[in-house]
Parts: sequence; structure tokens; C-alpha cells
Amino acid sequence: MLTTNLDRMDEKLKAFSKFGALEGGGITRLSLSAPALEARAEFKRRAEALGMAVASDDIANMYATYPGSEEGLPRIVMGSHMDSVRSGGNYDGIYGVLSSLEVAETIITEGIKLRHPITVMVWTNEEGARFEPAMMSSGIVMEKFTKESMLGVVETGGTVTFGEALAASGWVGGEANRLNSRDYCAYFEPHIEQGPVLEEEGLDIGVVAGVVGMVNYDIILEGVSSHAGTTPQSYRKDALRAASKTILDLWDKLGALAGDLVFTTGEITCRPNIHTVVPNYVKFSLDARHQDMNVIAKVVDVIENLPKDVYGCKLSYEEHWGRKTIQFNDKLLGYVEGAAKGLGYSNKRMYSGAGHDAQYVSELLPSVMIFIPSKDGLSHTVVEYSSPEQTWHGANVLLNALIEADKNL
Ligand SMILES: [Zn+2]
Repeated sequence: MLTTNLDRMDEKLKAFSKFGALEGGGITRLSLSAPALEARAEFKRRAEALGMAVASDDIANMYATYPGSEEGLPRIVMGSHMDSVRSGGNYDGIYGVLSSLEVAETIITEGIKLRHPITVMVWTNEEGARFEPAMMSSGIVMEKFTKESMLGVVETGGTVTFGEALAASGWVGGEANRLNSRDYCAYFEPHIEQGPVLEEEGLDIGVVAGVVGMVNYDIILEGVSSHAGTTPQSYRKDALRAASKTILDLWDKLGALAGDLVFTTGEITCRPNIHTVVPNYVKFSLDARHQDMNVIAKVVDVIENLPKDVYGCKLSYEEHWGRKTIQFNDKLLGYVEGAAKGLGYSNKRMYSGAGHDAQYVSELLPSVMIFIPSKDGLSHTVVEYSSPEQTWHGANVLLNALIEADKNL
């Protein structure tokens, strides 16, 4: 089996970790910010030095393309994003871009003949850390959001709109350059796992079968505010007490549904939030994710069947949003799995618990993701880490899966 170059893979990651570097490690490289534009320029410089043609579309997604040997075949595309969250790490997103670039560099410099053109792609604003929502530009391309509404989004904590940042970036190209199912035939996205499973199980590679389905609810308890000193306990309709009981009940009931269901209450509002007043209103979030939509349906069932009265407080709920489980392409999964096996890398099929551009792209093109382990399962933090060998393994799997796709598609 062919391999990429370990030192070159590592050099790329180190070089790009300078753009938006924080003292003490990690980066803040918000979408279309000055350090993000520096990273784009360096990506372009490196791609062009390899003889790739670099283009961008009307929302500044970047496409670096190298021709194949057969006329008229669609491109195979691979990539991810270069933006980060505030105080993020050196691997989330950028690893997918740079492992793809390393694969392209291997193919070009070693003269590996491919039938299809190959494209290394960079998505604009995947994180949504500066301009909400996350996966904005893949969402625009796949018509999840309208471009017009996104152009008006104002940056978090500032005044610049997404449209203004785009115009100032110098990266606005033609809409015709957008990823599409005519000019492209397959999408690969390598990424760090961002969770602990591969490391815990001592595995080299995650063959990502899809992205888990999820539901997102707000659960509301309404009681009566009263004086903390003068209201005997037995007279109280304390919304926070009722919410606490409900959260613990949910842990018991949801925990019994499936061992690998994940669910989180991460946000809570308490009113009036005064230490001498019994709370009359508590709202808390519930996020639940699982690859089997039957399990998600059971989660919804549990929520719908919560008691409507808890310690004298009225319980209600609102569904915010949800998404169905995304299944990646079987053929591409087979190529990734075959490449991992052929290289002697331990691997397993798994689902992503986090959202990625690939989930939207999968509606347009056959798509797949490749995961490498994250140290201690940590991501979206400055200590995010995967070893040089681990990053190299992922690139090698991508290289061989791509070659297999090139033969068969
Ligand atoms: Zn990412």
C-alpha cells in the first residue's frame, strides 16, 4: 500500500498552527478573520506550488484542483475547514484540509496517475463561532439556509456582518464554482474524532458510517415566586426543585433506553434568580443523540410522557430542532475500511456525535469521513492533540481510499 510522508504531514500542521496562535498553545482563528485569511493565503501558495488551480465560490469556499488523466470525468473532492472556535486547537478542521493536501502532494510528487481530477476543499465558517450557525456555507450550498439571510448575520460580540467579512476577504468567486453533483462525484472528510472512543479502545482509525440523529428540547417548569423567609416549605411551588427532580428522572429514564445514547442538559434559566426568592420559572435544555432513530423516538416518548405536574409546578416542553441520522455512502465506507485494513491499522465503524460539513454534503454527493484519535477525547480546547503518527495514518487511509474510488467510480 502507498503511504504519504510523515514528516511533511507534521510540518504542515505545525506551519498552520502559527495562524492565530495563542501564547501557551492552541489558536483562535475565527472565520474570515486576519489569521484565517493568512491561512488561506498559505494554503493557496502551497497548492499552486504543487501545480493545482485554486478557485473560490461566492461564499469563499476554496477549491484546489489537479487534473486527472481521463477527459471529462468528475472530480473527487476531499477537505474540511480551517476556521476554529475561540481558544481552539491545532487539529479540528485544519487536519482534514492538510491531510487532504498531503494526499494531493503525494499523488502529484510521486506521479501517481489518477483518472479523475482531485480537489482539496476548504469550507468557510464551519464552526459558527464568529457568525452563527455552524456549517454555514455547506448549509448554503445545500440550501439549508438562504444566502441572503446568512449575509446579514452579525458577528458574535461585534458589528461586522458575514456579508461584509466576505466582501473584505478577497475570496469571493463565482457561484458556478460551488460544489455540485455534476462536476464532483465523491467527498472525503478526514477529521479528528473529538471524543474518547478510538483512544480508549486502542484503535487507529474510525470508519465513520454517519452522523447521529439528535433532538433538542427546552423543558419548562412554572411555579410561584414567594418569600424565602416567610413561605413554609410545604406551601412552596418551587420551579427549581421541580426542574431538579425532572432532570434526575430524565437521567434514569433516558439512561435505561440504550447504553450508547448520549443526552445533556447544558443550559438552564432560573427566574427571578434572586437568592431570597423561591423560583417561579425554570427552563432547561435537553440534547439527545443516537444513530438509531428508533431510540431517538423513544427519547421523544419519554419527554412527551413526563408528568405535567411536578411538586405543584406545571411542566411543558418545546422542541427546538432535530436532525435525522445521516448515513454515509456504503461504497466509500468500503474503500476507507479496505484502506485501513490493507495498511494494517486497527479500525472500527462508528458514528460521529458532532456535526460536520460532510453531513450536508452527503445529500449532494456520495460522502464519507475518516476519524483519527483525539488525545483524552478533547477538542475545542487548546490542548487538542493527535500524534504525528496518528495524523499520518489518517492521511494514508485517505490516499488509498481515494485511489480505490478513482478506480471504481
Ligand atoms: Zn471540525
